[in-house]
Amino acid sequence: MALPRILKDLFTLPTASFRESAVLDYLADACGKLVGVQLKYDRYGNLLAHYRRGSQKIPPLAFVAHTDHPGFVALEMVDNHTLRAAFRGGVRPEFFADAKVRLFDGAGWIKGRVLEITQQSPPPAGGGPSRPEEVLVRVRGTVEPGAPGMWDLPDPVLRGDRVLARDCDDLAGVGAMVTLLQRLVRKHARGEVYCLFTRAEELGFIGALGAARAETLPKHMRVISVETSSALPHAPIGGGVIIRVGDRSAVYPPELTSFCLRVAQQLAKRRRGFAFQRKLMDGGACEANAFLAHGYTATGICLALGNYHNMDIARRKIGSEYVSLRDWQGMVNLFEALVLDEQGPDVGDTSLAERLDKLFKKYETQLEARE
Ligand SMILES: [Zn+2]
Repeated sequence: MALPRILKDLFTLPTASFRESAVLDYLADACGKLVGVQLKYDRYGNLLAHYRRGSQKIPPLAFVAHTDHPGFVALEMVDNHTLRAAFRGGVRPEFFADAKVRLFDGAGWIKGRVLEITQQSPPPAGGGPSRPEEVLVRVRGTVEPGAPGMWDLPDPVLRGDRVLARDCDDLAGVGAMVTLLQRLVRKHARGEVYCLFTRAEELGFIGALGAARAETLPKHMRVISVETSSALPHAPIGGGVIIRVGDRSAVYPPELTSFCLRVAQQLAKRRRGFAFQRKLMDGGACEANAFLAHGYTATGICLALGNYHNMDIARRKIGSEYVSLRDWQGMVNLFEALVLDEQGPDVGDTSLAERLDKLFKKYETQLEARE
């Protein structure tokens, strides 16, 4: 098995919050080639792709994934070899010491090392460590203000079933949505779906909040936030795509989650090797919150992620993030099944009700007899 081209491409591009243009340009190009897919940017620069073929009886779904990743943005050269840079995203301070960095100057990467943290956010109200917000980086060349920077980790690679990359979060989700669109187009599939590629999630779903406020997606649309989320002991990498019942901040409304569950159960029956998990992924909060806060119905689907935000806890240093390729492929298959499902989002998982009904009928006479 090889690393899918879309993932290889996306994982090689530079990105950081508010500096996502390399990824967005790539997506506009890749999706712009697809016959039947309409593209538009909303006023905040989020990119919306819309696929529709045939008349639709059921309201369309919208998938949402973010194009940024925790990283650096160049501010100014302090002297010939020292750059002041912002850091945008949640990475704990102890991982910064002497860590290797790369900044993209438009043509290539300029390498560097973190010298010191010069500014940190106060610790969050709910507890937890403070976040580095500004650093000094020793660099090998001049870096222009605005250049995006990332941890200097190897290019993407597939080892067994494990995909290692600088930024699985959330380019793995983005890549799954592009693959969905490509597949629908190739199959001339009858159906409708929206894919929204957002900006600046790592600072608190800023792009998604903009999209929700601007109604980039019409209000009647049902939103599925696509993420990678820190693997948990009960939600392992390789255990299958995860239907998320909630995150750190919210439990999602059950109707849409129940729809995803029903479609996944049906897919598991007809497709060998398809595995899924139903979990509360409370290692982080996702863009579903932004849409829920603005009156949308929203839920989440994610992949279990290793080395969340590049924090390799075991080795106490910055490392590549990783996901399971099988989980990723299962996620694409689930997306396709959700879009093509003919019963629609109003029909959820009824297996529990049916099971309880059977059980009650079995014992009903004993209950009535009051033994
Ligand atoms: Zn993410």
